[in-house]
Amino acid sequence: MKNPTIIASILLLLFLGSGLSLTAQKKYSNSAIRKQKETVATEVQNRHKNTQVMVDKIFSFAELGFHEVESSKYLTGILEEAGFEIEYGISGIPTAWMASWSNGPGPVIALGSDVDCIPKASQYPGVAYHKPMVEGAPGHGEGHNSGLPLNITAALAVQQSMKDANIGGTLKIWPGIAEELVAAKAWYVRDGYFEGIDMCIFTHVSSNMAVSYGQARGTGLISVEYSFDGEAAHSAGSPWRGRSALDAAELMNIGWNYKREHLHPLKRSHSIFTDAGDQPNVVPSKASIWFYLRDVTYEGIMDMYADANNIAQGAALMTDTELTSKVVGAAWPRHFNKVIAEKMYDNIQVVGLPTWSEEDQQLAVAVQKEVNSRDTTGLATELAPLGLPVVNPVSGGSDDIGDVSWTVPTVTLRFPSNIPGLQGHHWSNAITMATPIAHKGATAGAKVVAMTMLDFLMKPELVDEAKAYFTDVQQKETEYRPMITENDPPPIERNTAIMETFRPELEKYYYDETRYETYLEQLGVEYPTLKMKADTAAGSTGSKGEE
Ligand SMILES: [Zn+2]
Repeated sequence: MKNPTIIASILLLLFLGSGLSLTAQKKYSNSAIRKQKETVATEVQNRHKNTQVMVDKIFSFAELGFHEVESSKYLTGILEEAGFEIEYGISGIPTAWMASWSNGPGPVIALGSDVDCIPKASQYPGVAYHKPMVEGAPGHGEGHNSGLPLNITAALAVQQSMKDANIGGTLKIWPGIAEELVAAKAWYVRDGYFEGIDMCIFTHVSSNMAVSYGQARGTGLISVEYSFDGEAAHSAGSPWRGRSALDAAELMNIGWNYKREHLHPLKRSHSIFTDAGDQPNVVPSKASIWFYLRDVTYEGIMDMYADANNIAQGAALMTDTELTSKVVGAAWPRHFNKVIAEKMYDNIQVVGLPTWSEEDQQLAVAVQKEVNSRDTTGLATELAPLGLPVVNPVSGGSDDIGDVSWTVPTVTLRFPSNIPGLQGHHWSNAITMATPIAHKGATAGAKVVAMTMLDFLMKPELVDEAKAYFTDVQQKETEYRPMITENDPPPIERNTAIMETFRPELEKYYYDETRYETYLEQLGVEYPTLKMKADTAAGSTGSKGEE
């Protein structure tokens, strides 16, 4: 620091830096902000066709976690075209990426949403009963085909506003890769991809337009695979020389099921066997069982993890096998930001729910009846209230946006592209996802996101308020501790066999937007196709993509 040249350079940098931030702190009047928000909402509406194409396209790719190859290629192509810089393969995940576009100093806002689909959920859109497009294949039975198209629509509309009105700031977009495995976001956080980001808006399909703050309903989880190594032998000729790894995996499962009786009802756990041997006449030398262990607090999750480790060791002792385990997914319980949620809820009230057509409602009611839903009133027509922090935690699903929500101020916008009262992770949840219901829900959601982004870009002091909530309220009693370590690689090998089996069949159904106005048109689906009608629509017009 003694060198006068260095000091002069530092002073120059400070001067330039403060000069830059002065431009960033350009003040906008409330009426200027309101006007720009109206403009951005119109811009989103004008992009409805593009949103529809993106939603339909991702639906047609039907890619499971870590295999979102076509989805990522297509979406990053759109963003590159719009001038975004893309970093590919982040966190060592081939299908992951981070897109950035900057218009100078100002808030850095990131938009995220998931993109992977559900095993065995293949389903014709617009058809109110189970009709797989490819029997046994994956499908968008969680509606993850709609969130990134929504985000991209919002970001491109905001980008236009930022250029036109000279608004400073940086936009980032990232995909929730392998969300169904909760196996990417905690890795992005671990690897520093949220450093320098001021706030994050996450979007997720739902059956209403909603946002909440504080601790969210649902759980966090740790996903662990336990593997046992034994000794093969002829199952009939010399079984006494074998040590069965499958016995160990089964005993672990039995042990855990006894444990289950003593778990608090807020805890949820489930497992599958990922390797259960090859054929009965060979004593299985290798076997694996994979658990999701869920609770509403980090401590509760880690307690379950410790119990599961003990039970696994017990099973290995009983069978004289060797135990290894690996963490293959993690999701913190979610906590959302009050300042962003309240601003967003104002915009939700301005945008409102989409106007559903009679056809949309007919489809919704028919699907509700088909799956014996208690709700048979069709699509939502009234907005949900602003979601408040849960007073008594409620168990349920998880999302690894939890880890992001403990890293930067974050909210999740739930947008109305699906039908109330369905069971989730099921073919019925795919039915609306390439129909006008999904398209309208994504457009409405994109308006809310775009308007909320402008609120924070044009009034950066709101970003400071959001950060103050994050630091002074959210983190007051809870400290984020990652569940994954530096030594846990993302499990990118998952789903490979399933996708290798089904991709050649699924390729025949990829949406060709240059030839068909909508995916329903390409599939020859009459909208809506209800059970009471004779099924003459889907799959009978000889259009591209049929069996
Ligand atoms: Zn989801």
